[in-house]
Amino acid sequence: MRYSQVLIPTMKEVPSEAEVISHQLMLRAGFIKKLTSGIYTYLPYGLAAIRRVENIVREEMNRAGAQELSMPMVQPADLWKESGRYEKYGPELLRFKDRHERESCLGPTHEEVITDIARKEMHSYRDLPVNLYQIQTKFRDEIRPRFGLMRGREFIMKDAYSFDVDDEAAEVSYRKMYDAYNRIFERCGLEFRCVEADSGAIGGSFSHEFMVLADTGEDTIAVCNECNWAANLEKAEVKMSDRRAGVEQREMVKVETPGKRKVQSVCEFLGIGPDQLVKTLVLLADGEPVAVMLRGDRELEEVKLKNYLGVTDIRPAEDKEIFDATGVPSGYLGPINSKTRLLADQEVPAMVNLTVGANEKNYHLQNVNFGRDFEVTEVADFRQLTKDDPCPSCGESIRLVEGIEVGHIFKLGTSYSESMNAYYQDRDGNERPLVMGCYGIGVSRVVAAAIEQNHDDNGIIFPVPLAPYQVTVLNLGLNDPEVSAAAERIYGQLNEAGFDTFIDDRDERPGIKFKDADLLGFPFRITVGKRFKEKAMVEIRCRQDGTTEDIGIDDLVSHISSKLAN
Ligand code: ATP
Ligand code: MG
Repeated sequence: MRYSQVLIPTMKEVPSEAEVISHQLMLRAGFIKKLTSGIYTYLPYGLAAIRRVENIVREEMNRAGAQELSMPMVQPADLWKESGRYEKYGPELLRFKDRHERESCLGPTHEEVITDIARKEMHSYRDLPVNLYQIQTKFRDEIRPRFGLMRGREFIMKDAYSFDVDDEAAEVSYRKMYDAYNRIFERCGLEFRCVEADSGAIGGSFSHEFMVLADTGEDTIAVCNECNWAANLEKAEVKMSDRRAGVEQREMVKVETPGKRKVQSVCEFLGIGPDQLVKTLVLLADGEPVAVMLRGDRELEEVKLKNYLGVTDIRPAEDKEIFDATGVPSGYLGPINSKTRLLADQEVPAMVNLTVGANEKNYHLQNVNFGRDFEVTEVADFRQLTKDDPCPSCGESIRLVEGIEVGHIFKLGTSYSESMNAYYQDRDGNERPLVMGCYGIGVSRVVAAAIEQNHDDNGIIFPVPLAPYQVTVLNLGLNDPEVSAAAERIYGQLNEAGFDTFIDDRDERPGIKFKDADLLGFPFRITVGKRFKEKAMVEIRCRQDGTTEDIGIDDLVSHISSKLAN
């Protein structure tokens, strides 16, 4: 491809609207153009990178036995009503009416459409297993679209759906996708981790996320320093601690704590640590108040609570709502004589002589003990894991790192097939629900994540498999026929040898050509300038490690081949 002929509108300045580096670099390197909030045109260079990801995804999906199809983006609301998700999905689902007043929506994901196909086309155990996938534009009316392609409203997803006769067979299909995803992200040249994940709005019993490790990741993941365990923090299980044995239970006392409503101020006032206090948080879960007890220095993990309660929406109650629900001003809530549904994190019953609110303004209780002074029947893991907790799998130390979710696989079970009546006939003639799995990759997000992980101050450092062009040839002698001819010869040779090659044949200063080559992130840069005439050599520079070598023209193909093979 010739730079003089392509549309790659690069920018020198860092665009002010872009907060994260991948968004900045994608704008600066002419990948994308914003149309409106969260909606972008993929310009040729950006699209070429997306196609690289798509090709790897397609090859690995086909290799795993999945078949490609393409489903409509506009979907009838009736299908979504059948699965029960029309109401449940929330405002990310863009709903609208067509000219005949038929309610419709834009597909944020395709479980409903694919289940409709399955119930019409998969009738017998002989038709199974089947795995169908597509690579297609999705629309989610995200509340805060941001970071460019990282969280768009319109984005490209690969979504696959598997259908099996029973759980065991579904697990085989799941495992195939798990392996395929590992291969896909390895082949993309990304540093990633596969983690245990929450199933979220898609539903299902079991899931893994694939996370590209990068500081700007929106997800935090916990990784064991010893074993293979890794989990999204939302999901990361906390290992149960034992009740401190042998500590004497002191007599309960009521203390005045005037105006002390926050954990820190109560602790300072009473001269105790936050690990001796238990806070009682009130939340509205699908509008219903619930109180959750948690050690003073712990964070509630709302996703765990949401799953425990089986609700779709959860938020902290405001002061007035707390008072309405409990009759106690916020800051003084406690477990004794609680009027609200009361839950406790599993750590609470293990604590001794704790301090809690007295359910009375300006008072707290001290030396309160579970079992002696209060009971809670609903005890579970509700708190967030911290970096100081042990690995729930092997007990060794863990660390927390940031990640970008690029893929997510779910074992769905029969929830969609049962609600939408997708049954098949087994060997014995019995009607059974299809057992499903679904598997997504954020194709456009992968490109953003790759840049987030691979860049320097000068621009993108493309992992070779995702680079639209592996090599760029800088012609620095546009007015010198000998230099130009050499540059063109190299360009022709490399193309012929099968490399995707780019040539900067613009009438621009060398400085600009060097800067743009760095910005666009070509893995190899070949400079053809005056030195060529002196030494009959050209300089080849590797973008990744910055090394340069002088090479004779005829050795270029083998040199690049061997570099790419490593
Ligand atoms: P997130 O938690 O980031 O909102 P999600 O869990 O809702 O994503 P899934 O339903 O699992 O997303 O979708 C499959 C994949 O699609 C995700 O793993 C992610 O890579 C990608 N994806 C989801 N939402 C977006 C978006 N708004 N923009 C770009 N990619 C997205
Ligand atoms: Mg997800």
